Amino acid sequence: MTQQQQSGGSWSAGTEVIALYNFEANSADDLTFRRRDILVIVRPTRDPNWYRAKRSDGKEGMIPANYVQERMEVKLNTMPWFHGKMKREEAEEVLQPRKQGLFLVRESNNYPGDYTLCVVSPENTVEHYHIQYENNELTLDNEAFFENLIPLVEHYLKDADGLCCKLETPMPKQSGAFEGVVNWRAFEESGWALQRKDLKLDEVIGQGEFGEVWKGKYRGSPVAVKSLKETSRAAQTFLREAQLMTELQHPNLVHLMGVTNDKDKILIITEFLSKGNLVDYLRTRGRSVITKVDQITFACDVCRGMLYIEEKKLVHRDLAARNILIHENGTAKVSDFGLARHVELFQDGGKFPIKWTAPEALESNNFTNKSDVWSFGVLLWEIYSFGRNPYPRIPQTDVVSHVKKGYRMESPESCPPDIFTIMSNCWKIEPQQRPDFQRLCPMLERIRRQTV
Ligand code: ADP
Ligand code: MG
Repeated sequence: MTQQQQSGGSWSAGTEVIALYNFEANSADDLTFRRRDILVIVRPTRDPNWYRAKRSDGKEGMIPANYVQERMEVKLNTMPWFHGKMKREEAEEVLQPRKQGLFLVRESNNYPGDYTLCVVSPENTVEHYHIQYENNELTLDNEAFFENLIPLVEHYLKDADGLCCKLETPMPKQSGAFEGVVNWRAFEESGWALQRKDLKLDEVIGQGEFGEVWKGKYRGSPVAVKSLKETSRAAQTFLREAQLMTELQHPNLVHLMGVTNDKDKILIITEFLSKGNLVDYLRTRGRSVITKVDQITFACDVCRGMLYIEEKKLVHRDLAARNILIHENGTAKVSDFGLARHVELFQDGGKFPIKWTAPEALESNNFTNKSDVWSFGVLLWEIYSFGRNPYPRIPQTDVVSHVKKGYRMESPESCPPDIFTIMSNCWKIEPQQRPDFQRLCPMLERIRRQTV
C-alpha cells in the first residue's frame, strides 16, 4: 500500500480510505479529519501525495495520502434478486411485467435449506428450477457447481446451460433489505486470508456453536481459532461473522486477525484472550478476588465496545457475559458477533438466549440497539452476581411471561444501588424508554470514578 501511495495518484474516485492519524487543515483548501475517519476519494491530483477527498458529512478538501490507508474491509455481495421465503404462486405474481429471462431466486418450500430459481420462459410461463446443496455446493443439474448463489446466477446470466433460456433481468425484491453473501475469494482479495502453514493449533479451549475453539499460534503470537466444518450450511453464517469483524476495529472488541482453511474446515483467527470468558472468570474467582473496581471496569469496557457497535448501526443480538472475553491485562472485550446470524439458527435447537433477550426481540424479532441494551442490563446483573445464571429458579420457558407481567430480577446481593437503577432502566418494557449506550457510557464512567 505504501508503494501504491508513493508511485502516486493510483486511488481512483470512489475509493474508500481510512485515516491513520488526525490531520488539521493548514489552508482553506485542506480537509480536516480524525484518525479512523472514513474518507472517499473524489479525485487524484497532479501531486501523487495529495488527493481530493470527501468526509462522511459531505465536506470536501485536499488530504495527504500518507495520512490514510486504503480500506480493506470485506464486502458483502448483495443479491437484489433474492426474495427469501416466497410461495410458488407469489413468485409467479411478482415476475411482472413478463419478459423472457426475467428471474428471481427464492427459498425452496419443498426442500427447506435449498433454493428455487424462477425464470420467465420464451413462452412467457414461469419455470421453477430446484437449486440443491450437493456436498455443500449449489447445483441445478449436478453438472455445474457453485460456492453460493452469486456465481450460480452469474453463470446462468452468461449461458442458458440447460435452462429454458438464459437469465436476463433480475426482478429486485421490493421491500426490505437485500440479503448479502460473502465469498471466500473476498477475504483473499482484501488481504484477510492467512496462510494455514503460519498457524499452529495447540489445544481446544472452548466449544462454540459451530465447532471447537482452539488456542494456537500465528507466526508465533498467541491466537484463538474458531473452526467450522465446511460441510455445513452454516458456512455462510460463519463467514458472515468474519466479514463483519473486518469492519470492527475497537479496543473493546475482539480483534480479527484473519481467516484460513484447512481441508474441509474454515478457520477464523482472532487475538487470544488469556483470561477466557467473563462468566467463567466471575464464577471461578468470586467475591473474594473480584473487587468493585473490577466489576465497574468490566461494565465500562463492555459499554464502550457496545457504543462503538451502536455507532456503526449494528446490533449484536447475543450480548451476555459468556460472550465477553478478558484480556491478559484485564480489559473486557465483546466477542461472538451474532449479528450475521440467521434467526432460524436461533430458533431451532433452543439456542435462542431467552434470558438475555428483550421481549420485543423475542416476540417480533425486533432486534435493535435497545434490545442490546436490555441484554446489557442482564449482563450487568451477571457481573454483580458473580456469574450467576439470570432469573435463578425460573424455568427458561416461563421467563417471557413473567417479564411481560412486569417481573424483574432483584438487585444482586451488595450491588450498588445506582448500578441496580441502571439495570432496571435497561429493562423498561418500552424500548424507547431505555437509555442507549451513548447515555450509559458516561453514567457508568461516573460510577467508576467514584468507585476508584
Ligand atoms: P460461539 O460463537 O460458538 O458461541 P464463542 O466465540 O462464544 O463461540 O467462543 C466459545 C468459547 O471459546 C468462549 O466462551 C471462550 O471460552 C472461548 N474463546 C473464544 N474466543 C476466544 C479468544 N479469542 N480467546 C480466548 N478464548 C476464546
Ligand atoms: Mg458464544
